[in-house]
Amino acid sequence: MVKIASHHRPGHPLAKDSDYTPVCLWPDDCCVQWDGGGVVIGREGSYRTAFFEAFPSDNSGGFIRGEGETIEAAEGDAYRRWQKERACDHAWSRQPRKKDGTAGSLYTNGGGVCWKCGAFKTVFKPLVELGSYRKPLSASEIACITSGYLIPMRDGDEGADSAKYHRRIELRAKLCGIVLPAKPAAYLDYRSDERKAYEEACMSAVVDYYIVHRARLLNGGDEALLSSFLRSFALSGVERALKDRGIKPTDPSTMNQSPNS
Ligand SMILES: [Zn+2]
Repeated sequence: MVKIASHHRPGHPLAKDSDYTPVCLWPDDCCVQWDGGGVVIGREGSYRTAFFEAFPSDNSGGFIRGEGETIEAAEGDAYRRWQKERACDHAWSRQPRKKDGTAGSLYTNGGGVCWKCGAFKTVFKPLVELGSYRKPLSASEIACITSGYLIPMRDGDEGADSAKYHRRIELRAKLCGIVLPAKPAAYLDYRSDERKAYEEACMSAVVDYYIVHRARLLNGGDEALLSSFLRSFALSGVERALKDRGIKPTDPSTMNQSPNS
């Protein structure tokens, strides 16, 4: 029998649309869920629709969604889409064409869209962008530094992927000009004084960088470094850190404009 999402069971604490029973012949190992009135936010405005979603593990894309006036109509829509996808001899493209024939978005994460049936699936290896190491640090990367997350994790905790991610942040911080403190050789407990000292040193490294480059960053003279971090919530975090250190922040509007702005 088809696997129905637990939130459609009557006893579930957040039970929703639990009186509906699927009517189509979905495969036994296929998970399904639905909603009698979900809001869809699109470029041309938002609308409310019933929808039905299925996650079959076969030749189809693996994520099937149908919409309609009612849940049953949405399920019928999803079922027709699944039939089309599973029978298709797919031809995958990283950059599908839009309905008007122009090139659509390029998927760099390995995702591909079948130009015959429209299915989406991860079928390629991700594209590695040349020069990506020199891109501005993102808000989450800077937060990773200032929170002291670059230290080694507890034994066995650290997968190859997170070690690689941390190494990448360290290299990118160095290229950007942030001078990080020496990293502890092993994991440190969150409440330990050594951990606090390391976090403080990491925050100081970012603050030091910020003090030197503040005018340029705030005046938008260097788009490459004007990352979301320095323009968003993290900026206030650094400003707070300046105050904590007794440095009086200057009103950005009174600072010299950079030649490019
Ligand atoms: Zn196809």
